[in-house]
Amino acid sequence: MQRIVIVGAGVAGLMTGLFLRNHGAEVAILDRGPPGREASWAGGGILSPLYPWRYPEAVTRLATLSQREYPLFCGRLREETGIDPQWVQSGLLMLDGDREAALAWQDREMNPVFALGPVAIHECEPGLGAGFEGGLWMPAVAQVRNPRLMKALLAALERRGVTVRGGCEVVGIEERAGRVSGVRLATGGRVDADAVVITAGAWSGRLLEPLMPAVDVRPVRGQMILFRAEPGVLQRIVLYQDHYVIPRRDGRVLCGSTVEEAGFEKATTGEARALLHEAATGLVPRLADYPVEAHWAGLRPGTPAGIPYLGEHPALEGLYLNCGHFRNGVVLGLASARLVADRILGLPTEIPLAPYGVDAPR
Ligand SMILES: Cc1cc2nc3c(=O)[nH]c(=O)nc-3n(C[C@H](O)[C@H](O)[C@H](O)COP(=O)(O)OP(=O)(O)OC[C@H]3O[C@@H](n4cnc5c(N)ncnc54)[C@H](O)[C@@H]3O)c2cc1C
Repeated sequence: MQRIVIVGAGVAGLMTGLFLRNHGAEVAILDRGPPGREASWAGGGILSPLYPWRYPEAVTRLATLSQREYPLFCGRLREETGIDPQWVQSGLLMLDGDREAALAWQDREMNPVFALGPVAIHECEPGLGAGFEGGLWMPAVAQVRNPRLMKALLAALERRGVTVRGGCEVVGIEERAGRVSGVRLATGGRVDADAVVITAGAWSGRLLEPLMPAVDVRPVRGQMILFRAEPGVLQRIVLYQDHYVIPRRDGRVLCGSTVEEAGFEKATTGEARALLHEAATGLVPRLADYPVEAHWAGLRPGTPAGIPYLGEHPALEGLYLNCGHFRNGVVLGLASARLVADRILGLPTEIPLAPYGVDAPR
């Protein structure tokens, strides 16, 4: 049986671990912090890239594969663990964006986008404020609730006997005769493995620094606020000028997000809180009546063009990557994890992994 060590317990690591374990591999997932508490916890859980026609084909392919599988996957997790990741098809209403590009994209991808006029957008989302001229409506777009997805994944792994160790920082990859042999820990210890998967999110580039060719993953901070609103205040995900509001099932509304180059600094700022509050209440004026219950930040694993790194690292046999999903790690994560798990297990992959290789153009 293959012994596989996964470095990082975010959505990438937990889903990869689940698929590998389902095929009988012996899996250990190590995280330097508490599992499932970084970007994968902090995100909005929108299961579509924003303005999806702006993304390269490589991103669209992964999104399409995941979107197809998400409802069933979440249903199974709910039945198995009793924790509901709250997959909800709330649709996405965009109040800006290039209509021609969007309509050409829908023909190509067979993913419906409707151009709506000023009256129809208010019928689509009654909570919307005044002054918007029209929009693009994507009824198929769904969402999940990130903290619940993380909890459900952890519970499913625990049921399968997979070790998920928090407080366990990996500082290096061990090799023997040109092949991976394990990982080195900050404590000085090591864990042996036949294969190692790097799913360390924004920290992946730093961890892989000694290896060439380099993996270009950098931290991109995103801040978010949460309104303690009531059911009915907002029904659709609404996006305008890169800011969005997301209605959760219990009535809470998330507003995100900033896109900041702040290195590994994860602190929140008053400036971002004010900006997000203004954006949210501009879109849905009733939100001004509700308190902001929480404000947080996460570090996205930024990559050129948002194309993740998937597959084996060319410099070291047995070292695999599943990292660099930038703004779309939840929507792309399901497909990425399945593809990487299939590659490790020597199974055919549903799509070729060449566009996601370390050497692939980005
Ligand atoms: C504000 C915000 C909004 C977002 N909204 C969306 C959205 O709506 N839809 C969407 O699809 N995506 C969204 N994203 C992006 C998405 O959250 C990320 O792409 C995704 O979570 C990345 O998952 P990951 O598992 O690669 O990284 P992470 O969740 O960050 O997990 C990486 C893990 O690796 C661990 N680690 C790092 N270094 C080491 C080490 N040396 N040793 C051991 N462990 C280590 C970390 O502690 C961490 O737990 C959003 C992100 C943010 C911040």
